[in-house]
Amino acid sequence: DDSLRANHESAIEEATEGVEFGAVVAGETTAAADGETFAPEDPAIGEPIADVARGREADVDAAVSAAEEAYDGEWGEMTAMERGDLVREWTTVLRDHLDELALLETLEVGKPLYAARADVETGIDFFEYYAAAAAGEEGSVPDVGDDSHAYVRREPYGVTGQILPWNYPVLLMGWKVGAALAAGNTSVTKPAEQAPLAVIRAAQLAEDILPDGVLNVVPGFGDEAGAAVSGHDGIRKVSFTGSVPVGSEVMRAAADDVTPVTLELGGKNPFVVFPDADVESAAETAAVAGLYNNGQSCDSGTRLLVHEDVEEEFLDHYLDAVESRTVGDPLQDANQGPLCYAAHREKVEEYVELGKEEGATVLAGGGRPDDAELDEGYYVEPTVFGDVNPEMRIAQEEVFGPVQFVTTFSTYEEAIDIANDVSYGLTAGVFTTDASRAHRAAADVEAGSIWVNQYFGTVPGTPFGGFKQSGIGRECGKEALAEYTQSKSVHLALDDPSL
Ligand code: NAD
Repeated sequence: DDSLRANHESAIEEATEGVEFGAVVAGETTAAADGETFAPEDPAIGEPIADVARGREADVDAAVSAAEEAYDGEWGEMTAMERGDLVREWTTVLRDHLDELALLETLEVGKPLYAARADVETGIDFFEYYAAAAAGEEGSVPDVGDDSHAYVRREPYGVTGQILPWNYPVLLMGWKVGAALAAGNTSVTKPAEQAPLAVIRAAQLAEDILPDGVLNVVPGFGDEAGAAVSGHDGIRKVSFTGSVPVGSEVMRAAADDVTPVTLELGGKNPFVVFPDADVESAAETAAVAGLYNNGQSCDSGTRLLVHEDVEEEFLDHYLDAVESRTVGDPLQDANQGPLCYAAHREKVEEYVELGKEEGATVLAGGGRPDDAELDEGYYVEPTVFGDVNPEMRIAQEEVFGPVQFVTTFSTYEEAIDIANDVSYGLTAGVFTTDASRAHRAAADVEAGSIWVNQYFGTVPGTPFGGFKQSGIGRECGKEALAEYTQSKSVHLALDDPSL
């Protein structure tokens, strides 16, 4: 039997055999304190993958105690070089388990294997980058005159908390936990309830390498384990990636103890095509910008703003590119698999219906794929709307699915106005062959990352984060290390040199 279902059932067996998906606390995998579990689903077949410990407050408390002990012990005494050596040792093991981790991500998120591998590899790259970057930090010695000597130390916070979404599990673990550990902190990580498996497994692979308690993972639900992390008075810094409403909630919970937060939230990102652009290349890039990872990316380019003179040429190439994308089994490397979970598909489908009700025209997709084998999974066709007015809800709100729209502009000012007229400001694409226009638009668009004549591509050295409601603070790059440390200024009086 080589049906999609049979293939997934045997892949689930292969990926989970002999693994206990518990909480990883103090270097050991354990059941939840109350013994309860939950089971994330494989969205390609709508079946549970494995039982996972359902962590709550007591489990987060245990993880925080373990992390405090680790920070007060060996880990706190190490130099950045020593910590980096251990993290690199762990990444060697992670690379040896790349296929296993990628398979887990494919099963829990529904992303094609090639994309899951890219995720895990990028996550590992970030761990390595931070290990090296932290070792290269040199501190500073400001000039304060002859009577005193001053220097600035950068110190870790101690125990830090990371709350992850489900769309890029190991990659975002690399962004957050990589920076936290390299900077000398210890970590309590709460993966998303839809996708905890690869993160738990990655942490287990550190059990024999990192000192106990340095890296703890407590799986569970947002209002249980998640809220216990954001509100914990033993956690000195919280980093969250997810939606705007939950981000606000995390910030409120952290405010009680004045705990600093980094928030990476949603996006409704513009993709602007000026009339002098290489239109064909822009059109092909646009399809990937909106549809990679099924549009379940905070940095998806969903609002295609195209100059009216090139609209027709753009649409020709772009709709071809959209229609040539394959929707199917993520284990067979289709371009896109199912959405991550049932309720999420419902939300995406509601937005597609809303777009129709608001009067937009469906230019591609608009429904579920017509393939009986895909009926049990949470699939949606790549969907494109035309005749969209920038005020419509589908033009303003984050859909987080394979849904894009095209609208036109006639002047530079109009393009920038539409680009900026949303509450988000995470990323943007600018397509033009005029270097001056490219730089001007890069300056005028309100977003934390601008891509010119390309889309996507956050590398370890470039900071990533949002303007406006897309977030607070930055991840990636040295800015992330700065967010995971606090400065201390030390002043020392110098005696009068006369003896
Ligand atoms: P979500 O906000 O529903 O959940 C994110 C995490 O928060 C999960 O681990 C969840 O369990 C937890 N959580 C839920 N309620 C909580 C609470 N009350 N207290 C503490 N934690 C709680 O988001 P999601 O659906 O998992 O992810 C999709 C969202 O993430 C999208 O808006 C997307 O744009 C955003 N995202 C942003 C970035 C970025 O870097 N800016 C990257 C990826 C995803």
